[in-house]
Amino acid sequence: MGFMNAWVFDIDGVLTPLRIESIENNSVLQQILTIMHKEPVALITGRGLAWVRKNILSKFTVDDKAFNNLFISTEFGGEVLSFEEGVENYIIDEKLKLSTNILNKADGILTNYSNLLVREPKLMLYTAKIKKGVPYKKFQKAKKEILSDFENLIINAGLQSSFTVHEDNLAVNIKNKKLDKGSAINKFLKWLNAENINIGNFIVFGDNESDFEMGKELSIQGKNFTFVYVGETDPGERDFKVVRTNKHYDEGTLEYLRGNQ
Ligand SMILES: [Mg+2]
Repeated sequence: MGFMNAWVFDIDGVLTPLRIESIENNSVLQQILTIMHKEPVALITGRGLAWVRKNILSKFTVDDKAFNNLFISTEFGGEVLSFEEGVENYIIDEKLKLSTNILNKADGILTNYSNLLVREPKLMLYTAKIKKGVPYKKFQKAKKEILSDFENLIINAGLQSSFTVHEDNLAVNIKNKKLDKGSAINKFLKWLNAENINIGNFIVFGDNESDFEMGKELSIQGKNFTFVYVGETDPGERDFKVVRTNKHYDEGTLEYLRGNQ
C-alpha cells in the first residue's frame, strides 16, 4: 500500500495573487477541493479565522467527508480548526495572546498612520495592514516606520524575550514568538497522528520567508517533503531543496497542481 500525500498551503500569495486580498482564480480552489476528496489538506496562515471563513470556507461546497480531510491553522498556529463529520473542532491557544495594555498602545501608534494602515481584527496578533486604495510605495515607507515604532513598544514594555514584530507583503504584526508557521505545521503533524493518517510526502506551498519555517520544521521532524516556492523573488539558500514554478503566486500554485496530481 502506498502512503498518502499531505498538501499544505499558505494563503496570501499562494491561493491569491500578490497584494490582492481575495481568491481571484477559482481553479485553485477547485483543485484543492479535488485533493480534499482523497488526501489531507492544510491551510496555514497568519490571517485570522474570521477572514478565512469569509473568503475561503464560504466558497467550499463539499460534503462532510471531504471536510474531514481539511485542517486549518490561522494566526500562525494560534487557532486550529478541523472537522469531524460536519462538526467543527476549534482550539485557540489563549496563553499566547497579547495583553490589552499592548493592544491599546499599538492602537495609539496606529492613529499616526491611519490614512495608510488599518487594523485587521485578530484574536492572537496585532495586525496593521495596508488600507484599500493606498499606493504600495507609500505603504512600504509607512510600514518601515510603524515597524520600528512597534519594536520600541515591545522593548519599552520589556517583552522582547516573548514577543516580536513581523512584517509581510501587506501587513505588520506584533506576535508571540511561539506563534510561527513551524508551530502551526507541528499542530498539523499532531492532528495527522491523532487521526492515524500516515503521510509519505508533504507538499508545501509558500511565497514568503515565514513559509520556510514549515520546511524547517518538517526537516527537524524527519519528514519527506517537497517545498514548492511560488514567490517571485529569489528564495535564497535553504537547508532543503526548493522547487520553483515558472508562473508565480496563485498561478504558480495552479501550474504545480495541474502537473503533479
Ligand atoms: Mg504568503
